[in-house]
Amino acid sequence: MRRVVIIGHGPAGHRLAERLGTAEDTRVTVVGARPEGPYDPGLGLAALTTELSLDLLALPEHDQRVRTVAARAVFLDRLHRVVLTEDGGRHPYDTVVLATGAHREHPDVPGAYEAGGRPAAGVWHVDSPRDCVGMRTALTPGAAVAVFGADLTAVESAHALAVHGHHVTLVHQDTRLMSGELDPGASAAVARRLREVGVEQHWGAVPVELRSGQLVLREGEPVPAEALLLCTGTRPNTELALAAGLEVGDTGVRVDERLRSSDPRVHAIGSCAATSGTGWCTLSAARRQAETLAEILTTSPERRYRHTEIVRARGDGLDLVALGPVELLAGNTAGVDHVAFNDPRRHRYARLALSGDRLLAANLVGLREAGAELSRVHEAGSPVLSNRFAPLFGIAAAGGGAVSEAVVCHCNNVSETALRTAFRQGARDVPALAAATRATTGCGSCADDVRRLCAALQRDRISEVTEDSDVPSEEDAA
Ligand SMILES: Cc1cc2nc3c(=O)[nH]c(=O)nc-3n(C[C@H](O)[C@H](O)[C@H](O)COP(=O)(O)OP(=O)(O)OC[C@H]3O[C@@H](n4cnc5c(N)ncnc54)[C@H](O)[C@@H]3O)c2cc1C
Repeated sequence: MRRVVIIGHGPAGHRLAERLGTAEDTRVTVVGARPEGPYDPGLGLAALTTELSLDLLALPEHDQRVRTVAARAVFLDRLHRVVLTEDGGRHPYDTVVLATGAHREHPDVPGAYEAGGRPAAGVWHVDSPRDCVGMRTALTPGAAVAVFGADLTAVESAHALAVHGHHVTLVHQDTRLMSGELDPGASAAVARRLREVGVEQHWGAVPVELRSGQLVLREGEPVPAEALLLCTGTRPNTELALAAGLEVGDTGVRVDERLRSSDPRVHAIGSCAATSGTGWCTLSAARRQAETLAEILTTSPERRYRHTEIVRARGDGLDLVALGPVELLAGNTAGVDHVAFNDPRRHRYARLALSGDRLLAANLVGLREAGAELSRVHEAGSPVLSNRFAPLFGIAAAGGGAVSEAVVCHCNNVSETALRTAFRQGARDVPALAAATRATTGCGSCADDVRRLCAALQRDRISEVTEDSDVPSEEDAA
């Protein structure tokens, strides 16, 4: 029996345990510091604005062959090949996997934190579903919320809170939104969409204090802040790796394409591993790494991890997809061609970087189907046919550009057709559709789409039944 110890029970550690747990010759132990167990961070945004039960956010329990230890790992003893936990446990391994994730950086805003480092009253990080539910229940209707930061969480949260009727001001020091993912054109298109839903924006602004329900800026008027949401970057949790003498860089534990650290018995996946070069790892990338590593450790040792980052923003009317390194979207990279499309009145923007017929990077705003199609192309590494651009951007209807088999859940590659089929077969609400197809169980960005599709299918079904009550449904017929 090979003993695999996974440290960290977030989405990456959970997916790896799920995949390894059924291997006959492997004994898996997952050590997780979070007392409430693993949850799906992708659904946090939905929990911020809708009444979502915390149970729905919990990740499924493992096969009983997987041993779970609810304790913090305090030392990785590579000499004796044992993981020590804070409860005095000793967990010997043949292979150990670091999946310790990342933590939110605390910005230096006087008044935002209490002496012990806890956020002050009315100050939130939405790093866990519990935080999101806490913030949702604390906010009064129409409350003034200041969001500090310009990353994906800041953009999505500001948009969602504004759509739900709060008075939102987005404050950030940068001159661009999501500068690690978006070029200036895409950032401007997203900013326009935010303005459209009522989000005020202060760019290049430096908060100096939170005082009496106001966020005081170095320059200009203070921003109303009955609540302050802090979204100011994350840092990989690399303390264990550093103490164990492994190679660690700014963006995480250094790994090769087999996801091995500088010690071949120690692997690293998810937000704690330096796989992307940016220090930011999406949920779907974290899960892909877990799946690849499971294959490497069991059936396919020759498998290699190829990093393809795809960042998607969620929210009604906030269709945003960023693929590949944003630097390649700048106009001066040798050997790179660009295709651009801008339609500011309809908040649509696209910029693609190509090498021949290969897609290297792209930003797409307001172009849902093009985003879905190009994500698929990027993930598969397949060629892009130039005569598809016009229909993809909705410029010409002729030529059959519409994506017939639109993917709704990109993390699990679930198409609308698959969801419709599952519905017809009896999965009549979102949890049932999730259980049948796995849609929504990845980054969660498709949860609203699945909910809408489900509601539409339910409406169709009700009208079918009331219009022709003699005709049995497929479920009844079965
Ligand atoms: C605020 C926020 C918003 C995000 N929004 C999105 C989004 O919209 N879309 C998207 O794709 N991605 C998003 N992400 C990124 C996404 O959450 C990560 O990709 C994902 O959580 C990575 O999973 P992970 O398992 O690597 O790390 P984590 O989710 O961080 O899990 C790591 C786990 O390891 C545990 N741990 C740490 N140290 C130890 C130890 N010593 N012993 C035992 N356990 C330990 C932690 O308690 C944690 O439970 C967001 C991240 C944050 C912080």
